[in-house]
Amino acid sequence: MRFKQQMLLVVSLLIVIGFAITATVSFVISRQAALEAMVQHELPLTSDNIYAEVQRDLILPRTVSSFMGNDTFLQDWILEGETDIAAVTRYLNGIKQKYGAFTAFMVSEKSGNYYHAGGWLKQVSKTDPRDEWYFRVRLMEEESELNIDPDMANKDALTIFINYKIHGPDGEFIGATGLGLNLESIKSILSEYRERYSNNVYFVTRLGNVLLHDEQHQVAENLSQEPGMKEIVQSILTEPQGSFSYQRHGKTYLLNTRHIEELGLILCVEAEEEKVFDALRPSLIVTAIVCILVTLIVLALLLRVIRHYQAELEGIAWRDPLTSLLNRRAFIDRYAAIRNQHQRNGQPLSLLLVDIDHFKEINDRYGHNAGDLVLKGISEILTEAVRPSDLVTRWGGDEFLLLLSGTDSDNARDIAERIRTRISLEPDLAAISEQRLTVSIGVAEQRDDFDLDRHVQEADSGLYRAKKAGRDRAELA
Ligand code: GH3
Ligand code: MG
Repeated sequence: MRFKQQMLLVVSLLIVIGFAITATVSFVISRQAALEAMVQHELPLTSDNIYAEVQRDLILPRTVSSFMGNDTFLQDWILEGETDIAAVTRYLNGIKQKYGAFTAFMVSEKSGNYYHAGGWLKQVSKTDPRDEWYFRVRLMEEESELNIDPDMANKDALTIFINYKIHGPDGEFIGATGLGLNLESIKSILSEYRERYSNNVYFVTRLGNVLLHDEQHQVAENLSQEPGMKEIVQSILTEPQGSFSYQRHGKTYLLNTRHIEELGLILCVEAEEEKVFDALRPSLIVTAIVCILVTLIVLALLLRVIRHYQAELEGIAWRDPLTSLLNRRAFIDRYAAIRNQHQRNGQPLSLLLVDIDHFKEINDRYGHNAGDLVLKGISEILTEAVRPSDLVTRWGGDEFLLLLSGTDSDNARDIAERIRTRISLEPDLAAISEQRLTVSIGVAEQRDDFDLDRHVQEADSGLYRAKKAGRDRAELA
């Protein structure tokens, strides 16, 4: 029993340990693969997509701005002295409406007047930091620039401005014009990406100021204020592309960065490392379930195999191979328990010692196989004749010993008589020996004072008397 339990324990431990190692190794490998996929594919891909969308959103406004910068109407209007303000207002408003821009504007170099879709706004001044852009455009070598600034004409809403120079007939600088785009539309792209890929997307200026981020994602105003980013912020701001990992509020983030030169911005796409592992969790649960199932199945099979061989071994050790009856050893083993029980309840125990008459002759005349058939036939009759709680034993040779529980000698004798008659009338047995086959039976009862050796001796003396009296009978001790 202990061996069986130890065996089951060892096997279950082996299976569980085996599965645990396999699951751990595969988890570590898939974790690594998932992280790599996130860093090398998903984040860069999201970054590429956003980059493409931002580009696309800016192409039309850029074209329109370029068209405005080269429009002869604006050139003529400035050169002719900026007289009809309604005409330029109508022009700017028309463009604003047609292309859904946030604002359309024009500044004249000669007068310094700033016009937009609502009319004249102000006069640009070198001393006003808000007009700094104009003086920058005026001096720059390129024809155009992209710039993010608060829009004075729209309650200082953050706006992407596309500024174009206007030249006179001799190529001289006579003003600047262009469109302003609402950042909200780009912000909504960020939210969409967050929903689609559950990634955080934000734009940072070259100085690390967080310019644009989706509302749900709280970021510090400047990357250098983010404690976990201290060591990587310099690389983020200088390297055109990069992938990093950093800690924020105890969580690890994987960050992909990309500089958008046209906008002077850095696009940041990041994912929470924990979310990458979320995807692996179901497979871990499946592994655990499979482990439990396999362990249970193997244990059940093992238990069956052990029980099978245990029964087989018990059969070999405790049963007579020819008749499958209990052998002498098994009888002695079980006798003790039955005797104790009868000692407690004071009931009598009876023994029947059954011996085949002239059995040697059957062996001699018809061969050993015929003798064996007789032994089997008799063992069946004996088993059928008593209760399941009684013991039927092949005591040796052609001798059978029956232990009848709670049975006194009178009853035992009746049972012996029934057995004797039954055997002597059995046609199959008679067929083997070509004559009536008979047995002699010794009957002995014990009460209170139980002793197996003495009890068997008593039954044997009954048997001796039966043999002596001419066989085919049952005799009391
Ligand atoms: P009795 O009426 O006095 O009992 O005469 P008997 O011939 O039956 O004599 P005894 O009981 O001494 O003989 C037992 C014989 O049983 C002897 C032995 O060869 C035979 N025998 C013992 N075991 C087996 C067995 O497994 N198979 C067969 N076929 N014969 C067996
Ligand atoms: Mg005999």
